[in-house]
Amino acid sequence: MKFGGTSVGTAQRMKEVANLINDGQPKIVVLSAMTGTTNALVEIAEYLYKKNHEGANEKIVQLENKYYGVVHELYESNEYKEKGIELIKAHFDYLHSFTRDLFTLFEEKELLAQGELLSTALMQFHLEERGIKSDLISALNFMRIDKEGEPDDFYIKENLKRELNQLGDYYLVITQGFICRNAHGLIDNLQRGGSDYSASIMGAAIQAEEIQIWTDIDGVHTNDPRVVEKTHAISELSFDEAAELAYFGAKILHPTCITPAKIANIPVRIKNTLDPKAPGTLITSSCNKQRIRAIAAKDGITAIKIKSGRMLMAHGFLRKVFEIFETYKTSIDMITTSEVGVSVSIDNDKYLVEIIEDLKKYGTVEVDKNQVIICVVGDLIAENKGIAASVFNAVKDVPLRMISYGGSDHNISMLVKAEYKKQALVELSKNLFNG
Ligand code: ADP
Ligand code: ASP
Ligand code: MG
Repeated sequence: MKFGGTSVGTAQRMKEVANLINDGQPKIVVLSAMTGTTNALVEIAEYLYKKNHEGANEKIVQLENKYYGVVHELYESNEYKEKGIELIKAHFDYLHSFTRDLFTLFEEKELLAQGELLSTALMQFHLEERGIKSDLISALNFMRIDKEGEPDDFYIKENLKRELNQLGDYYLVITQGFICRNAHGLIDNLQRGGSDYSASIMGAAIQAEEIQIWTDIDGVHTNDPRVVEKTHAISELSFDEAAELAYFGAKILHPTCITPAKIANIPVRIKNTLDPKAPGTLITSSCNKQRIRAIAAKDGITAIKIKSGRMLMAHGFLRKVFEIFETYKTSIDMITTSEVGVSVSIDNDKYLVEIIEDLKKYGTVEVDKNQVIICVVGDLIAENKGIAASVFNAVKDVPLRMISYGGSDHNISMLVKAEYKKQALVELSKNLFNG
């Protein structure tokens, strides 16, 4: 069971999580940092990179005071209030120790890890105070990524098993989401929103019966509820559909968190901590099919067009183009081709300048920044006639930069300028679900 930032966002919420997990079933409980904490830590890191120690200290003190408030509310006895205060003091003394001249990526990762270390330690004390049997294990003892930044499944499985075996007879095992070690043994993380991924990796490692993601909404919705009105929770999704939605921007799930569950064939259930009785969304390999299930959007996309009448149709041309992206470890999201050119989209433009320089060897290059991928997910096999027509009819007033259909049976993607994102999402929702 993984609980996100809002789910453990206040002392009261933590108490409710304690009630939810204490249901007689043995489980691993993966916690995120309390809501706002990771954002605050990112801000502190920005001050430290700029060597603005005063700014950093001010932010650290602000955050620290918030935690003393939590301790005061979370614990009943003076004994646990004191334990809580000691814990907060230790973590924040550590944070203050970063206000020195040397601040590198390594220090940043250590700093970011404090949020999850705090939330799990606070929860463990709370369970102890209530007399609920539980054990806290450190994700830093078993979560590990390899040189490519991918989870090291074998290492994780062996070391998580060892940690659990050491506990002997366990009931509730509390651990941190998001944080891990890298191939060099240094503290690292699974990127923002990575606690979902942690839970899925751990669930797969122990062959859990089910992986549950507890969040602040009653399941995966038909569209982004922050942008579109009248969305509703979807009762079931296939692994493939959920993976497409997560990858193409549905913030509720970390982009790659479905993969471990899918490979291990473990159902994933999305539940609402604020309304635990709501059925939520169940993600499995065998769910009923539906023509159109949901829509998602992925921001911050750059489109690159390479035009070359001379070389495009020559064999090996696409390989050469893709090799450039591979060299710069930049993955491609969408591809479209024609007789005279190929367009690709990327979400990481760190090496854009270098990529463009290299691509110029093979043709003329055009770049469009600030694009958004709009992704429609469902049972989109070609036999389901008319789906593409209804999708494109819905966005008839939106200029489309790229269209991709047929890469899988579950996805139609369109690339639009950021300024058209809301219109595209609203029109698709209106036409495909509410109309
Ligand atoms: P947590 O802190 O629990 O990980 P997140 O904020 O990461 O929660 O994800 C939950 C949020 O994702 C919701 O509050 C909602 O605003 C947003 N969201 C975006 N797209 C969707 C969607 N398709 N379905 C449900 N929620 C979505
Ligand atoms: N606390 C981390 C973040 O805010 C990880 C997570 O919440 O999933 O990104
Ligand atoms: Mg999240």
